[in-house]
Order: sequence, then structure tokens, then C-alpha cells
Amino acid sequence: MKQHDHVDQADLPTRQQLALAETYFNHSVSCLVILDRDYNFIRVNDAYARACRRDINDFVGHNHFDLYPSDVKAIFDDVVRTKRAFVTFTRAFEFVDQPERGITYWDWTLVPVLNAGGEIEFLVFSLVEVTERKRAEEALRVAALVYLHSSEAMMVTDANNRILAINDAFTHMTGYGASEVLGKNPRLFNSGLQPKQFYQAMWQALEQHGRWQGELTDRAKDGRLIAIRLIINTVFDAAGKIDRRVALFSDITERQNTERVIWEQANIDSLTQLPNRHRFHACLDQHLQQAVRSNGELALLLVDLDHFKEINDTLGHEIGDLLLIDVARRIAGCLPPQTTLARLGGDEFAIVIAQAVDRAGIDTVAGKLLAALATPYLVQEETLFISASIGIARFPTDTQEIDLLLRQADQAMYAAKNNGRNRYCYFTQALQQAAQSRMKLTNELRQAVAGQQLEIYLQPIVDLRTGHMCKAEALLRWRHPQRGLVSPDEFIGLAEISGLIIEIGDWVFRQAVDFLPQLRARCHPDFQISINVSPIQFQNDAALSTRWLAYLAQHGMPASGLVVEITEGLLLDMSAEVKAKLLALADAGVLLALDDFGTGYSSLAYLRKFDIDYLKIDRAFVRNLDTSADDLVLCEAIIAMAHKLGLDVIAEGVETSTQRAMLDAAGCDLVQGYLYSRPVPMAQFLTLFAAC
Ligand code: C2E
Ligand code: CA
Ligand code: CA
Repeated sequence: MKQHDHVDQADLPTRQQLALAETYFNHSVSCLVILDRDYNFIRVNDAYARACRRDINDFVGHNHFDLYPSDVKAIFDDVVRTKRAFVTFTRAFEFVDQPERGITYWDWTLVPVLNAGGEIEFLVFSLVEVTERKRAEEALRVAALVYLHSSEAMMVTDANNRILAINDAFTHMTGYGASEVLGKNPRLFNSGLQPKQFYQAMWQALEQHGRWQGELTDRAKDGRLIAIRLIINTVFDAAGKIDRRVALFSDITERQNTERVIWEQANIDSLTQLPNRHRFHACLDQHLQQAVRSNGELALLLVDLDHFKEINDTLGHEIGDLLLIDVARRIAGCLPPQTTLARLGGDEFAIVIAQAVDRAGIDTVAGKLLAALATPYLVQEETLFISASIGIARFPTDTQEIDLLLRQADQAMYAAKNNGRNRYCYFTQALQQAAQSRMKLTNELRQAVAGQQLEIYLQPIVDLRTGHMCKAEALLRWRHPQRGLVSPDEFIGLAEISGLIIEIGDWVFRQAVDFLPQLRARCHPDFQISINVSPIQFQNDAALSTRWLAYLAQHGMPASGLVVEITEGLLLDMSAEVKAKLLALADAGVLLALDDFGTGYSSLAYLRKFDIDYLKIDRAFVRNLDTSADDLVLCEAIIAMAHKLGLDVIAEGVETSTQRAMLDAAGCDLVQGYLYSRPVPMAQFLTLFAAC
């Protein structure tokens, strides 16, 4: 330091004092700097050099504000001007030469040292870096802002679990204001819906890890339940003891409601409120696993209503729906405890019985179900009669596999249908074999058309009024390479299920039309050929009538040479599309015959609506004509009624001349049966019946 002659000797520091000051200056943890009044460095200490990350000798000869331009220069200038004793301030500073340090914060203390004349001789300043503290303060400020303005509800408790603070969002969520909860235990919000163990597990986690998160239901001030996702964190003090716990709440009531709705849509049948097919599979799976674990047994019952479609089609879906609701209720009323009931869709229900699954137990349940379901229903002042068919498969007796169990119950249900409906059937291995051979037969049928294994047989139809044989029915045969001739009763159903009937039916149609010219030339100039058309063809083949009419035109065949035999089942399907196809055929002159009359849900109204030309009395009524007075009365009634409606009647299955005589007496127009001929191959038909 520069010596000044005008300083009084007595005021001068002693050597010892100087040494002390020197030591303090050099080793102080504060950064110390001495500048001249023009801010040139005179000395800096180690701490300062370190803070600036420079060598201690780098400073002398430089001006402070050349090295570190900053806004503090204004303060320095002010001190120099006013000669204030000292000034302290905190400032942010960025080292331009060390951008990686980012913004740093410093506490400054600036002291001017005056000479005897009162002029500034030096400026001394100390610096303490307070970046850490500043950042902590900033973080706190931000946290407080978040806390206050967060949309997440928050609550702070002390080590004794007393509430210290809540934010606005918490008040908004629960309805409790701060004054109502401060100092209280958070069990105030307990809804009682969580068991004790839930809270025990929560506290255990908090004690072990200081943190817990989970979902629970609390109760708001107005008693409303709120589903909450809760995260609790613990703040520890310097000594490691619990200082605070901070709880963060998210209201997930809405989310849970949406989730529930979505779940219900995916799992519950909205009509009956029963589990749907999807849910049922999950339940069945659970039941099975449980049965496997406990060596238990299960019975799976599939319940399918008989001819439900007819009710739906004739009385409308609204009545159909009401009936289904009643059915679901009746089924539920017959079931023992521990039973799952589901609606698989349409009129199909499934039941899993997990108790009393011995044969006698199941028989009882199935018997009760049949009786309950067959009791007349009163729906919107309509009395309805319906029955059900039930298929039963058992675990582990029948199978151990879930998919197979379902398929077996399904096979048993079809067996119940085939055996006359309104009954239950157990699955048996024989059913399985039958199902397998049906599948095999279907595959073979696919090859049959291309493999030219199908043939048309013709059976004559005789006009009783003239004695002429002027029509024939085309009946399909399958010459199977191994089995020989297979009857249509065996394969038409399979062709319908597999959709093959469309291709096969088309083939039959073309064969019939192609053969018609020969029949007209050799047998009768107005010969008509009848073909059987499955409802599936009308329902699933969009272009049926246009294609057929075009084919007739192309081949120069009058539409009136073709009679299309349909069943009552088709007439019950009132879809506009089917109606349009039928009417297109009829309008073009194709004749319509209603086959198997008397076996289904016969309704006179349909006969008029669809412009039917012929009514075919089913063989079932003709068969016992000679022995049953009832059947005779029925035939007479059908014939009289048909004539009233302008239809001609064809009686099928006429095997004896007595039957023919009785039908003739009853006014029947046409007959068909073994009495005249069995169905014969086309070529043979020509030789047998030329010019009859
Ligand atoms: P369906 O239309 O009722 O045909 C009459 C059935 O009665 C024929 O059986 C015929 O052989 C038989 N039948 C005729 N007269 C007598 C008789 O005097 N006594 C007895 N016991 N039976 C007689 P088939 O040929 O076995 O045909 C059975 C059923 O298969 C037909 O019943 C028809 O529903 C269906 N079918 C036959 N061909 C076709 C076809 O090309 N397409 C469709 N979709 N179904 C067909
Ligand atoms: Ca027929
Ligand atoms: Ca028939």
C-alpha cells in the first residue's frame, strides 16, 4: 500500500496489526478486492481469484469494469459521488468468459476508503456468492405459486398428521375451507369405503419409503363420494426426522364414471342387464380355473328360444325385446346360487352352474327352466307362447377345455332342436362325431358342384282335373364318390349354413331351365318345372332375381315355365329386400308355390300379400288321410281356403289311390307322389313320361 506523509504517526497501524490484516485479506473466504478511485485493480485476494477462475496476478493493471462490465458500476459511481460510508446489495451476474456458469448471484459490500483530505483513496468491496440460496428462494417462490394456484388439490400435514395447510383446489374438491380443517386429522375425509388393511398398508409404505400413491374414495363435506388418486410425499428435516407430509389429490370420479360406462358397454347387455358374451367368456374362464384348483365340477347350459325369430318378425322388435327381458328374469328365477347367467346375443343365453352339478341336480334345473320358459307370456296385452331348447356340457366329464366346452354345449343345443325343441340334451361323444361328420360332409360338398357330383331328379305332378302330367318338381341328388346317393335332407341344411346353397341353387335353376325345352317338346307344350329355393338364397343373394330373369330371357324361356317353391319361413322374413326379389320374379311371370304348407307358422295374410299361385299340402297331412278323419278335415279346409284365395292346391306324398280319390273328392287340383312315380333322373323322365 502507498504510504501517505500527512498521516499522523500515532494513527498508523502497528506491524502486528498489518500482519493480521494481511492474513485476513489473503485467507478470507469472502472475496475481497481493492480498487483505486478509477476502479483499477490494486489487489485481490485468493478467494476472489478463485471465484473468477483466474490467476491472482491477472487483475493488476486492469480496470474492474473492463474485465467485468456490469450494472453495478452505477452504484459504484454513486458511492464515489456521495462518499457514502458503505453500501450492500445483491446482484445477479453472468461471467461472459464462462457462460457455462449461467447466472450467479452475489452479495456485495462496497466501502470507500477516504484520505485525510476526505477524498476517496480506495474502494474496497467484498463479494459472497449466494447463487444456491437465491435458487432455493426462487424454487420456494415457484412452489408456493404452484401450491396456491394449482388445479391439483394439495394438503400439508405435520409429523403428527395434523393438517397444516390446504390450497384452494382442495377446498373446491372437498367443499372444506381451511378454517374447518386446519389442525384436524385427515381421517375427516374418510368415506368408510376402504377397509382397515388399506390404511395399514398405506402407513406402512409411508413409514418405510416416505411415499405412497394409490386410489381411494373420500367423502366431501356435502356427503358426496369422490374417487381420488392420491400421492403422499414426506419432507424430512435436517436431522432426518419427519417434518411435513405433502398430499396431492386428483379427482378421478369423472374418469372412473367414464371407465365404468365403457366397461359396462363392453361387458353388460343393455337390454337385460346381464353379462354379455364378452363378459361371459371371462366368467367361464374364472369358473373353470376355480374348478381346476378345487377339483370341482361345472355345468354349462346354453339356452336358445325356439322360433323366436318368428315373434320378432311378426310382432316387431319392441315386443321381442320385452319378451327377452321376461325370459332373462324367468331364467334367473330358476337358478341355484353361485350361478352365472349371461346373454350371448339374440335369444341365446348361457348359464354356468358351479354347484350341485351331478346329473340329478342339472336335470332339476333344466326341467325348471323349460317349464318356466314355456309358461305363456303376457307382453303388451298379447299372450305369447314360446319354448326353449337347452344344450348341456360338463367339466371335466366332457372336456377340460373352455372352447371345446362351449362347442359341446352348442352341439347339444342343436341336438335338442333337432329332437323336436322344448327339451334339453346333454353332450355326448356321438354328437361330437355327428358334428365332425357334418363338417367333413360340408367340405366334400364344396367339391361336389365342380366335381359334377350333383344331379337333378324329376318327380311328376299330375293335374287331377285333366289327368295330364304337366309339371315336375326338380329334386336335388348328390352322387357321393364313397357314400353313393345322398338325400337332400342330409346336405341342404349344410349347404345353407355354409352359404354353398347360393352356388348350388343357381346350378339347379340353370339345369331346370336348360331342360325345359325338351320337357315342352316331349311331354307337354306348357310344361312347368318347379325348383326349391332356400330362404338363404333370397336373403343373401342380392342379384338373384335379376340374374335369373336375364338367364330366362337369354335362353328364350318364358318365365311362366318356372315355378319357385318357397317355404313359410321365408314369408316371415318381411325384409323389403326379400319382398322386392319375390315380387320381381312374380311380376315377370314366374309362378310361386308355398311348400310344406301346414308345418310352420302358417298365415293366410301372407298368401295374398305375395301373390302365391300354388299351395303344396305337406306330406304329413296326406300320409294318414285314409285313417285319420282329422287330417281329412284339415286337407278339406286347406283346399277350400286356398280356392277362396284363388290358389291351386298340390298335394304331396300321394302314395295310394285311396289318398288320391279322397283328395280328388276334397277338390284338390294337383297331386304328386310315389303313386305316380318316385323322383327319377332327367333322361329317364323323358322316356317314362313322353306325351302323357
Ligand atoms: P320337398 O320340397 O318337400 O320335396 C318333396 C320330398 O318328398 C322329396 O324328397 C320327394 O322325394 C319326397 N316324396 C315325394 N313323393 C313322395 C311319396 O309319395 N312318399 C314319400 N315318402 N316321399 C315322397 P327329397 O327328394 O328327399 O327332398 C327332400 C327335401 O329336400 C325337399 O322337400 C326339399 O325341401 C329339399 N330339396 C330337394 N331339392 C332341393 C333343391 O334343389 N334346393 C333346395 N333348396 N332344397 C331342395
Ligand atoms: Ca318342394
Ligand atoms: Ca314339400
